[in-house]
Amino acid sequence: MTNSTNNTVTVTIPAQQLPISHTPDIVVVGGGATGIAAAIAAARNGASTLLIEQRGYLGGMGTAALVPAFCPYSDGEKPVIRGIGLDLLEKMKHAAGDDFLNRYEEQLDWVPIDVETLKRVYDAEVLASGAQILFHTVTDSVLLDGDRISGLVISNKSGRSVVQAKLYIDASGDADLAALAGVPFQVGGENGDLQPGTMCYVVTGADKERFDQFIAETGQQPQLEGLVTLAQQNGELPEGRKRISGISWVSNSVAGFNFGHIFNIDGTKAEDLTRAAIEGRQLIETQIRFLKKYVPGFENIFLVHSGDQIGIRETRRIQGDYTLVVEDFLTMRTFEDDIARNSYFIDIHLANAGSAMTIKHLPKGKSHGVPYRCMLPQGKSNLIVAGRSVSSDRPVQGSLRVMPNCFAMGEAAGVAASMASIAGVGFREVSIPELQRKLVAQGAYLGEHPGVADADREIAVGTIAYDEEN
Ligand SMILES: Cc1cc2nc3c(=O)[nH]c(=O)nc-3n(C[C@H](O)[C@H](O)[C@H](O)COP(=O)(O)OP(=O)(O)OC[C@H]3O[C@@H](n4cnc5c(N)ncnc54)[C@H](O)[C@@H]3O)c2cc1C
Repeated sequence: MTNSTNNTVTVTIPAQQLPISHTPDIVVVGGGATGIAAAIAAARNGASTLLIEQRGYLGGMGTAALVPAFCPYSDGEKPVIRGIGLDLLEKMKHAAGDDFLNRYEEQLDWVPIDVETLKRVYDAEVLASGAQILFHTVTDSVLLDGDRISGLVISNKSGRSVVQAKLYIDASGDADLAALAGVPFQVGGENGDLQPGTMCYVVTGADKERFDQFIAETGQQPQLEGLVTLAQQNGELPEGRKRISGISWVSNSVAGFNFGHIFNIDGTKAEDLTRAAIEGRQLIETQIRFLKKYVPGFENIFLVHSGDQIGIRETRRIQGDYTLVVEDFLTMRTFEDDIARNSYFIDIHLANAGSAMTIKHLPKGKSHGVPYRCMLPQGKSNLIVAGRSVSSDRPVQGSLRVMPNCFAMGEAAGVAASMASIAGVGFREVSIPELQRKLVAQGAYLGEHPGVADADREIAVGTIAYDEEN
């Protein structure tokens, strides 16, 4: 049969009777930073909680895509991401061994990720909270009953089945649940611009002392601007950003790389993810050749592992009860229903090899509020969306998307879900002052005066001056 709207040839599958396999109070779909914090928070606050993850381990982009470091937890003066996210960072530092701890014990910003340690820490902390984990399981459809989700269809080696929960947390990073439930969303910019993907990787056999000495003696940036440009001019690296996004030293010989881009990837399309995986691995081979030839300290490196998937920075942004916009970021706005603070800069990677990064920092010590309403998808009462696909404009997504923020949003979603579950209500009926009190009591930071919005203010933003770089 041909579908008249998009010319796709379709078949009709006979109606299926599926078993109900799980009936938790709360189900969390997606075991990245957002889903981990959401599941821990929901379970700790008394709700029976099921965390569903398509891979065989937790961590999302931070483990599956080998994103090599945690973005800053601090605003340059104090930690603004605290609670579960900060606790997980500290647990990873302590579990990673004395050498790692000695290097990074005092550091809150750009702490490298020891991937295998982090996977174990996540397993342990989620299980200790009382939440149940179900790996190797994909959510592929939702059952609707008016404005409520009444079930999720999951698919795994045991077959297809239905999860019936009271409340649903979408922590898929791509707002998969929201999209399946018919929530309106946007993808990328007005012209379809999307941030590129990056295939991150880990090498061993590096020599940090030799590299540091080279940086000190030549005055090169650690991000290797000069050498990347030179290799591009020599045709030994492709055009695009003229520096490495980051090298993260796990030890003196093991380093993680966030380097280069794969363009025109829509992370909600399997075909694009496939092409990006193949192109990403090819690009790594080129980059390893570059590193060995051009960069002192990397002559003898050996590629240990590349991401199980291309790193995806941006896909869907849901339409929520409030859309956080760049003016809110620039004026460092505080909302009555804040559930987190964000101080990370606007960090939009170039959409094609000829364009530039869009960067905008807040002043040191400053942050803006993230309102609860950004996580409430229009038209659905028992669904909340947390993480990089909350309701925001594109510049704010370029800032909110990083892992420390995802922990904070996930924690708030989990606490809210537990409150809604206990009270037998939807997400919009949760008492915001009570939610904020619980979050603060459990270690989160909501600014100096949680719950007190800015007084009527003149918002004088003017033209946004971005600091462009390539
Ligand atoms: C290349 C790159 C570099 C970055 N650099 C940094 C950095 O240095 N520091 C930093 O803090 N942040 C960085 N970020 C951003 C950050 O890693 C992500 O935005 C963040 O991890 C998003 O967290 P999340 O939990 O919302 O989503 P994800 O990490 O994407 O996790 C979503 C999880 O849900 C699972 N899932 C998705 N759909 C389904 C489904 N239908 N059924 C079952 N499971 C599903 C996925 O397998 C995944 O585990 C970077 C991102 C990229 C791509």
